[in-house]
Amino acid sequence: MSSNEALIIIDYTNDFVATEGALTCGKPGQALEKYIVDLADSMKDSFVYLPTDIHVAGDKYHPETKLFPPHNEANTWGREFYGELNNWYQKNKSDHVVMIDKTRYSSFAGTNLDILLCERKVDTVHLVGVCSDICVLHTAVDAYNLGYNIVIHEQGIATFTDNGQEWSLNHFKNSLNAKIV
Ligand code: ZN
Repeated sequence: MSSNEALIIIDYTNDFVATEGALTCGKPGQALEKYIVDLADSMKDSFVYLPTDIHVAGDKYHPETKLFPPHNEANTWGREFYGELNNWYQKNKSDHVVMIDKTRYSSFAGTNLDILLCERKVDTVHLVGVCSDICVLHTAVDAYNLGYNIVIHEQGIATFTDNGQEWSLNHFKNSLNAKIV
């Protein structure tokens, strides 16, 4: 893998993936576990960023409070990475493997992700995680607007419905010029 590529692992936490998670996409999300960990391991000498939703309990100003049950609150089990990814992250976190707090769907909204990628001359982002048609989608839209090349790993993204998965894959390919692998 050349050094101008980065892997972005979006919201792969217990609340979004585990059976008992507060806002889980369930089995389709759980099925990504090995693919994501293997890919992360193969790209850890490039850059691996893990933008992860963070919420404050009862935040009356946050727009998601009206839309979703409470999820990914700070310092909870729900915000820990799901399954083997949690062990992998604890073992490999470094200046090349970095968790990033995000409070909106897009990994770029209100974060320093774009600055980090620019500093490292990254021009191509590989996207995996959940949910395909929410946080992965909004991250891809911002990556497109910022001029990054986008690679979507079909076996590395999932969402709540088959329709959502199919629609988002078409959108990544046909509207965001993403390479689907
Ligand atoms: Zn959220």
